[in-house]
Amino acid sequence: MVGQELQRLRLQSSKWSNNSCYIDAALALWEWAQRWLHHFWGEPAPGAPALPVPANHRLANGVVVNWQPLTQFWSTRRRLYLSDVLLDAAALKAAVQQLMELRDAVRRAYEQERSAKLAARSALEAEVSTQMLTMGAAATAFEWLCKSAGTHFLRTAVFKRCTRCGYFVQQGKMQLDPPSILEAVSGMSPAMEIMLAELQAAQGDPFAAFQAKLSAGRSPTNPGQAACLHASSSRIRISSTSAGETGSLIALQLPDSPPDALQYRLCAGDDQVLTTANVTASYRLVGVIMYQKDVHFVTDVRTPCGEGWLRFDGMIANGVGRPTEPPVGRVTHGAGRYFPYLCVYALVPSPPVDVEMTRE
Ligand SMILES: [Zn+2]
Repeated sequence: MVGQELQRLRLQSSKWSNNSCYIDAALALWEWAQRWLHHFWGEPAPGAPALPVPANHRLANGVVVNWQPLTQFWSTRRRLYLSDVLLDAAALKAAVQQLMELRDAVRRAYEQERSAKLAARSALEAEVSTQMLTMGAAATAFEWLCKSAGTHFLRTAVFKRCTRCGYFVQQGKMQLDPPSILEAVSGMSPAMEIMLAELQAAQGDPFAAFQAKLSAGRSPTNPGQAACLHASSSRIRISSTSAGETGSLIALQLPDSPPDALQYRLCAGDDQVLTTANVTASYRLVGVIMYQKDVHFVTDVRTPCGEGWLRFDGMIANGVGRPTEPPVGRVTHGAGRYFPYLCVYALVPSPPVDVEMTRE
């Protein structure tokens, strides 16, 4: 097999069908985030995904949700990605078929979770059947894929704090000690939302917007005064870095209906430095889901083995990742105009590893 075909095979992902782009895009981002974790930090176990997969479980209405296909999707893609063996046309066709079946099985598990509150099994099955043909939200799908991997992500929680005495409001009571951060972030989504105004204030740089969000919060004017009447309070955002967790990944969800005037500045060329009270760490943009509003999702990923950036679009080239420019902001793809929708950054070890040394 010639080099080009081998390349195709290594980068073969699932092919679009039945409006699956929201799952295809989420899966691609999930897959390549892990490839970076493996690259920077090593594999947890041979062939295992770095991010724990949600557990199989039984819903109240008796339906069993099976997340195993997510692990299988990873191992199938991994085998292709690392493969040097020659596959003939029939074997390649079988590989595509398998990836599509696994993708559909992941989609089913996700849609079952989303419909979990439907009490009747038949109602759930009808809803899932509908959703298996309907486009969804890639960010929500990504959150579900990462549901059991929370500690791998930098997460934040918001507290109210008296601006005069600095006491925290916790379960309706005023406390001098800060609330347990790990407890507070444990239920938070791995994908943190960046609001339009925050993005605008940071000149379109999501990472800078996130940094600014963390830094916000006024110091109390008269700290530790128990006699305070707590007349004024402000909301402050605390991140898991305060509890010593750096988070090997940062996921930032951007506005999904941005005004035309909004400019982006993704800074894919440089690692970005996060500075909090407890942590200074470099993060590298490793993947971005791009969105054409209400039409289609695609995923741009950076490969850890020096191939640059690739775009995965299940509707193009049968789902083979194709070389693309590093993401900056809005981009024309096919006949559509796309904007950045969900960015994932990976923590860069210090000192940094040699990017060219390993394939994964
Ligand atoms: Zn007070």
